[in-house]
Amino acid sequence: MMDLHCHVDLYPDYNRILEDIKSTGFYVLSVTTVPSAFEGTCNLTRNIKHCRTALGLHPQLAHQRINELPLFDKLIPETRYIGEIGLDGSRGYKDHFNDQLFVFNHILKKCESYGNKILTIHSLNAVDEVLNCLGTHPKAGTAILHWFLATKKQVEKAIELGCYFSIGPAMLSSNRAKKVISWLPKNRVLLETDGPFAKLEGNIVYPSNVISVLTYLSDIWNIPYDEVRSVMKLNLVKLLK
Ligand SMILES: [Zn+2]
Repeated sequence: MMDLHCHVDLYPDYNRILEDIKSTGFYVLSVTTVPSAFEGTCNLTRNIKHCRTALGLHPQLAHQRINELPLFDKLIPETRYIGEIGLDGSRGYKDHFNDQLFVFNHILKKCESYGNKILTIHSLNAVDEVLNCLGTHPKAGTAILHWFLATKKQVEKAIELGCYFSIGPAMLSSNRAKKVISWLPKNRVLLETDGPFAKLEGNIVYPSNVISVLTYLSDIWNIPYDEVRSVMKLNLVKLLK
């Protein structure tokens, strides 16, 4: 299985997260929030075969770390994976929306000169704006919308743009998120945790916890658990091709 959005470097207990990744054998995308964290985060998982590190600049930090964009540009040839990036229109971050747009568009434009990047994208309270930016950079790569909360219309637009959707165990405790999940086509669904930010009953989520999503999907799609596993595997293979 997989966890395509995991903040490995931000877990309070490195031994436990690294042990979880190793023991599951899951394909894990270790995302970062600032370019200056990229190399250190790569080093954390360097000897784990199924783990990749993404280069990111989180929208909630864009205004503070816009000066790290040159470092982003320098590091971008080192990885195929980009994230966490995106936009955040929530209170407290909306004030810095111009900086966020500048950073996000800059990164998308950079990605266009490669053509094969895989991007994990934050779109909290800024779904239309994120989809607009993706629409104006159609060659940026394959976008995975993480923890996507949107209307049915927005989901349809995202599907049209070729986006994937990564869903995690913590989404299953929200009716709004479950509604979104019910609109997703099977061939665009991937798994994530967003640990250690995401919690389940107060406990930090680990990659091994994505299994609960498979059970949930088996139920709502009305297909056997093993078939859900096959669909997920196939989606991952297609994504990484
Ligand atoms: Zn995240």
